[in-house]
Amino acid sequence: MVDLAISCRCGQFGAKLKNVSPKTGSHVQCYCKDCQAGAKALGAEETLLPRGGSDIYQTIPANLELTKGQEHLACLRLSPKGLMRWYASCCDTPVFNTLGGTKLAFIGVSVPAMQGDGVGKAIGKVIAVVHTKDAPFGTEPLKDYGFNKAGFNVLARHFGALMRGQVKDNPLFKGGEPVVEPRVLSKAERKAATP
Ligand SMILES: [Zn+2]
Ligand SMILES: [Zn+2]
Repeated sequence: MVDLAISCRCGQFGAKLKNVSPKTGSHVQCYCKDCQAGAKALGAEETLLPRGGSDIYQTIPANLELTKGQEHLACLRLSPKGLMRWYASCCDTPVFNTLGGTKLAFIGVSVPAMQGDGVGKAIGKVIAVVHTKDAPFGTEPLKDYGFNKAGFNVLARHFGALMRGQVKDNPLFKGGEPVVEPRVLSKAERKAATP
């Protein structure tokens, strides 16, 4: 297991992800329209994979530590109850995804925001590729796999965190509430960002 530095594109926001390994988290790629829209709403399409996928490492929030420029931390939701898409507002870099609260010990960390040569080895191979039917047309062949495995791993990590008393250990929430008020896209904004 290793610790990885996380940085936004301009470097003003930083974090540390602890205990990274292919066993303590899951490397997944999501091609759903919402993930594409989230990146587009931030003007961060270049963080996406060639056919619009989001490259994500899923783990428990207790592994996250905010280290720099916390005042730039911001949060976007495509709808009032949508996934919380955390980003660094200094340069609109997507950094984390969470649910709306701390009931489930889940966080998705954007792989492009992870720093250093050791990232690929630390997070391991992709165990799940999902929602490829939403990928824009392209030459790179894509096929869904691993959806159930990724879901099972989320639950297994949650129960591990539960036994260690770590479920609410999450620097993005305080007393179950997000540390910053999420910005919810208007219907028009969402429509404009959705492929
Ligand atoms: Zn920045
Ligand atoms: Zn998605």
